[in-house]
Amino acid sequence: MAYADEEDTPLAAAAAAAVYVRRGLKGTFAKPKQTRIITIANQKGGVGKTTSAVNLAASMALAGLNVLVIDLDPQGNASTAFGIDHYEDASGSFDVLLDGEAIADMMSAAEGFDSLWVLPATLDLAGADIELISTVAEAERPFLLKAALADFLADHEMDYVFIDCPPSLGMLTINALAAVKEVLIPIQCEFYALEGVQQLLRTIEFAKERLNPDLEVSTILLTMYNSTTNLSASVVEEVRGYFGKKVLETVIPRSIYVAEAPSFGQSVMTYDPGSTGAVAYLAAAREITERKQKG
Ligand code: ATP
Ligand code: MG
Repeated sequence: MAYADEEDTPLAAAAAAAVYVRRGLKGTFAKPKQTRIITIANQKGGVGKTTSAVNLAASMALAGLNVLVIDLDPQGNASTAFGIDHYEDASGSFDVLLDGEAIADMMSAAEGFDSLWVLPATLDLAGADIELISTVAEAERPFLLKAALADFLADHEMDYVFIDCPPSLGMLTINALAAVKEVLIPIQCEFYALEGVQQLLRTIEFAKERLNPDLEVSTILLTMYNSTTNLSASVVEEVRGYFGKKVLETVIPRSIYVAEAPSFGQSVMTYDPGSTGAVAYLAAAREITERKQKG
């Protein structure tokens, strides 16, 4: 394995981390004063959106916070990572957006967690853009998720909601941008890391001007860091230079366990809590809970 040597946190440290995750986390993360709803977006594919949504949410839930993950990607990878079906006939975010179903009726509890829920994506979400155009008035179209979330949060106490976007800037991502105050952009420590970021920032600016004046990029998370190449280090430097304090101190390393966990229907936080990837996601989640939300 090309990056096998990165898997070895010293054994004792890994074991301690594992025990900490399994037993000692409850109550160790600050509860926000009001629900923080965070959209995870980047139209570039494979940068770690879903992995970050899943593992940040799992970390926070293990710490005892109430968390909802909304899967807005027809690929349904976040749903799969929590062991939840996303076949065509299942219910989920499509029914919320297109049929006005309540989030509470369509979400599922994630197995192995006490306070984590998932609104799954189903395959029919792939047609949502087209269906929305033919069935929903243009003025209402961007606000379907926002309205559903407002209904849901009126009688469900959530600390965090993470929205996992597809790798595009279509109506699903627009709904996710209209519904939140915070955007988290994962950036992969690879060639062309910042490619497409300008376009993403323009879309966020557009959404802010036209749909949602409260919208901000609150957080940048560097993902898939490879300590064996100089390239990763120079991407980190470049991104920190560009985004400054928005970039989390914690950088997520490349780790085979992170990539493996979804095929077991798990987050890496439960699959291998002592692995470098799990330890890093836990630290990133803690950083997010310790940062003040603007406004
Ligand atoms: P898409 O744009 O298709 O939705 P994405 O931005 O959601 O992709 P992920 O699915 O999270 O990206 O990650 C892309 C691939 O990289 C996946 O196979 C995932 O398992 C792997 N991956 C993500 N983070 C890591 C990591 N830290 N270490 C190793 N593999 C990783
Ligand atoms: Mg994804």
